[in-house]
Amino acid sequence: MRYSGLRVLIEGLTGHKGWRPLWRDPQPKPAYDYIIIGGGGHGLATAYYLARTFGKARIAVLEKGWLGSGNIGRNTTIIRSNYLLPGNEPFYEFSMKLWEGLEQEFNFNAMVSQRGILNLLHTDGQRDAYRRRGNAMLFAGADAELLDREGVRAMYPWLNFDNARFPIKGGLLQRRAGTARHDGVAWGYARGADLAGVDLIQNCEVTGFRIENGRIRGVETSRGYIGAGKVGVAVAGSTGRVMAMAGMRMPIESHVLQAFVSEGLKPTIPGVITFGAGHFYVSQSDKGGLVFGGDLDGYNSYAQRGNMAVIEDVAEGGMALMPMIGRARLLRAWGGIMDMSMDGSPIIDRTPVEGLYLNGGWCYGGFKATPASGYAFAHLLATGAPHDTARGYRLDRFERGYVIDEKGVGAQPNLH
Ligand SMILES: Cc1cc2nc3c(=O)[nH]c(=O)nc-3n(C[C@H](O)[C@H](O)[C@H](O)COP(=O)(O)OP(=O)(O)OC[C@H]3O[C@@H](n4cnc5c(N)ncnc54)[C@H](O)[C@@H]3O)c2cc1C
Repeated sequence: MRYSGLRVLIEGLTGHKGWRPLWRDPQPKPAYDYIIIGGGGHGLATAYYLARTFGKARIAVLEKGWLGSGNIGRNTTIIRSNYLLPGNEPFYEFSMKLWEGLEQEFNFNAMVSQRGILNLLHTDGQRDAYRRRGNAMLFAGADAELLDREGVRAMYPWLNFDNARFPIKGGLLQRRAGTARHDGVAWGYARGADLAGVDLIQNCEVTGFRIENGRIRGVETSRGYIGAGKVGVAVAGSTGRVMAMAGMRMPIESHVLQAFVSEGLKPTIPGVITFGAGHFYVSQSDKGGLVFGGDLDGYNSYAQRGNMAVIEDVAEGGMALMPMIGRARLLRAWGGIMDMSMDGSPIIDRTPVEGLYLNGGWCYGGFKATPASGYAFAHLLATGAPHDTARGYRLDRFERGYVIDEKGVGAQPNLH
């Protein structure tokens, strides 16, 4: 079924009897050419591009829970390509371009909304740093504008401009950035992959790898053994645990990241805003809730819930930036497990086991990367060669010294 305004009208007039489930519920087959572990955004996007763009068949996605139960359904939905380093910026700009045509391509409303992101600056030194970052973005074909204080005031007159500690002096604006509905992205890729013949197998946890003579042969799962020509791991916060089953220790730590949503309010924040003097970012959902978040909880964890200290820290950031947020009631808070790498940048690479590939280390910026990550991982799996924009995301870069440390904080995952 092709979705369109006409289809909605017809279904509305005929009692909504024609809608069908978005994907099948197949039984696992004995073997596949390609198995993708993890039915999050990256796993589903990988399967989609493998089938659609690279023409591959006999593909399965194995998900231990339900599709979209992980971070793809837990993030604060921000998409952007405002990076500095040459190892990152072309990749994220490639992702931005894929976002721009995504809904038409997979014929699903993922509510991609290019409402702009504004990174606020509070010192002269920060202005210099943002000017440099904006220039790097322009060189990579992205858009960037440096706003002065009055430029910011014209967009958001209610910000706390004269905060004694953190006065707002301007901001870096990327107008093409914005938000997308996270579940819609997972569902759109899942539907597109299913239509292309990919088996999406839920409630199927991978519990081990069968490796013979240094080559992958298949995976052990909670639903039995499944043979595979190639296996791609895209399990985000579980990367360390899953790769340990293949005998590998990852340059990754897992940390919990929380997010928050307020009660529904009248339209207040048209775009996405980030505080430049602390970690706080906020946007408003189409239902009216203020969606916001801040730092990681800082300690290693696999629990999908966080602690009160970070809630207080996030609330302080919000109050410093926009004191009116203190009047809004908090509706929900939740957490997800982030696969924090040693330099804050991802890994898309083959592994020492032939036929076993890794996609991980997304830290807390992996949602915006979903299209490019899926495309680049599918490229690697299908052709054996890295995608041009993902050449730097090597697994061995930490031992070779070619780190991509966007924040410049060194090998301390909780600070990235
Ligand atoms: C609170 C929060 C806010 C965030 N905000 C943003 C944001 O605004 N912008 C942004 O760009 N990024 C953001 N992120 C980060 C982003 O959500 C993640 O980096 C990205 O979703 C990770 O990729 P994924 O979608 O494939 O992960 P997931 O959805 O977590 O997918 C991994 C899947 O693997 C499955 N799995 C694990 N182990 C196994 C196994 N053994 N067998 C089978 N399946 C397994 C899991 O069940 C899960 O479904 C945020 C994350 C959180 C938690």
